Amino acid sequence: MELDNIMSGYDSKLFDVLAQSSNRTFFFASNMKENTARWSKGAVEYFGLKSEILYPADMEWLKLIHPDDKAAYLKDFEDMANHVSAYHDVEYRIRNAGGEYVWVNCKGYMTYDDEGKMDFFAGFVTNLGVRNKIDPVTGLWTLQEFRKDTENMLYNNKSGVAVMIGLSNFKRINDEFGYSYGDKTLYAIAHRMLEVRTKGTRLYRMDGSDFALLIEEGNCEDAMREIEKIQQAFSALHIEREEVYLDFRAGAVLFPQDGKYIDQIMSNMLVALENAKNVGRKGVVLYTEEMHLKKTRMLRLRDAIRESVNDNFKGFSIVMQPIIDSKTGKGTSCETLLRWSDERFPGIGPMEFIPVLEDTAFIIPVGKWIIDQVLKDLREWEDKGNNPIEKVHVNVSYIQLHDDELVDYTVSKLREYHIAPERIVLELTESCRIGRIDELTERLQKFKDQGISIALDDFGTGYASLAVLKDIPTDIVKLDHTMIKSVLGTVKERKLIEFIISFCNNVGIIVCAEGVENTTIMGIVNEAGAGLLQGYYFDKPLRVEEFYNKYVKQIS
Ligand code: C2E
Ligand code: CA
Ligand code: CA
Repeated sequence: MELDNIMSGYDSKLFDVLAQSSNRTFFFASNMKENTARWSKGAVEYFGLKSEILYPADMEWLKLIHPDDKAAYLKDFEDMANHVSAYHDVEYRIRNAGGEYVWVNCKGYMTYDDEGKMDFFAGFVTNLGVRNKIDPVTGLWTLQEFRKDTENMLYNNKSGVAVMIGLSNFKRINDEFGYSYGDKTLYAIAHRMLEVRTKGTRLYRMDGSDFALLIEEGNCEDAMREIEKIQQAFSALHIEREEVYLDFRAGAVLFPQDGKYIDQIMSNMLVALENAKNVGRKGVVLYTEEMHLKKTRMLRLRDAIRESVNDNFKGFSIVMQPIIDSKTGKGTSCETLLRWSDERFPGIGPMEFIPVLEDTAFIIPVGKWIIDQVLKDLREWEDKGNNPIEKVHVNVSYIQLHDDELVDYTVSKLREYHIAPERIVLELTESCRIGRIDELTERLQKFKDQGISIALDDFGTGYASLAVLKDIPTDIVKLDHTMIKSVLGTVKERKLIEFIISFCNNVGIIVCAEGVENTTIMGIVNEAGAGLLQGYYFDKPLRVEEFYNKYVKQIS
């Protein structure tokens, strides 16, 4: 059959132009009476058609359509034949050259001859597999489909369980090996999951490296069983000869009880997943009402803190805890600790509000405010004469150190209040050690260059080891109170602390023992050579005025 025959009466050039339009949209024109169709070259390649000209056009195309979708397709043609509508607009799955079914949307317009018979039909087939139904990277259903399927279940009064699966270390894989390796990993994960899932469990690719499971009429046990199977399948994943370790977490939501509409299910899955990041290796958490309350408290807390910061730090205050020189038994320095009070959050402590300040980055302005307050107090004490407090410790977290202005700000405040930089000690909380050591060292050196001292806080918790001391310019090591308490434990524990103290002393680092709560502990750490002592045995953190009366004024 000649091209011109099919296109008789129609502009073949126009077809050529339209056929070029996109590699995802395939143009076709058919002569209904001859039962022939011309397809764009892209379609021939993508669907593996015999040639640009298809004959018999209806059968050749129909045999590629998914068996479940044939009826819908034929019904639309029947409607066109019966003049119900001249517009054709159907979604169906069709097999491509690779043998995979993809979703397409087919839009066309029918013209009729004088007798009302179907004559010429032309339109576009758009590959939805690329656009919204099937994720091109993994071949799984997309987020939109997850929403649609879940909504359908809710609409039909079906119960079920929805699970969000997150890979918290996936970003590292992308960073280290590049995006195309990342995509291959996602593809491999998806296919491994498809292999092991129970029939009836639907799998979706959500945002980024998140996946989801949907089990109609499923309960908590079904979800756990499915996740366990997937988890096992993840234990050894090889991509291009690399062994990939995946940190697999999952948050499950039962519906309708914990999600009556789709957005609620989505947000509760994320809440459960967030909680799953804080649990042990298993990492699977079922959403509970309590989590929701915790989350809303956190959000309320964020708002309240934002208000406080914007209202000139209303509600924030500092307290000071004396640090005792073990040789003289006198309080010659102090640690500044932040407090925040708000009637909506009675009794709230820094363990709860500091992480919120860090998450929101409000710790940056609040940290500067603390420096200003402390230096102002120190200036006042100086002016009153004979101030025995030589050094003031201020806590800084990771995010504050990444604020390039902090050094200049501190230096300018020291000048403003005429305080020598040697009197400031920055205590680096545990969070400071999450980044790269060389970068941290570089940042700290800027403070050191100004004469400001550095203390390593929370030593003995987390992953801090003695090895960090050789890199980080440290003046003081603060042994965490959990570690200090262990001097009352086994001989080994006590020896370890004694060893750390003597090691530090040998390399010129002063050790401050925190959490000295009684004479026994004090005796042991003193004997072991800790230069500084801090804890409830001496005093708890005090309001500035109280601290002044007890540790500054009495001697002056
Ligand atoms: P941290 O820096 O390790 O502070 C010492 C904590 O131990 C303080 O708790 C203090 O009240 C408590 N403590 C003092 N003596 C004893 C004792 O003998 N036994 C026991 N069990 N605990 C004792 P606080 O004030 O609740 O602060 C908790 C944490 O919050 C601090 O731990 C620090 O990581 C953070 N934080 C507090 N203030 C600030 C701040 O201004 N900036 C930053 N970035 N973090 C702060
Ligand atoms: Ca501290
Ligand atoms: Ca500490």
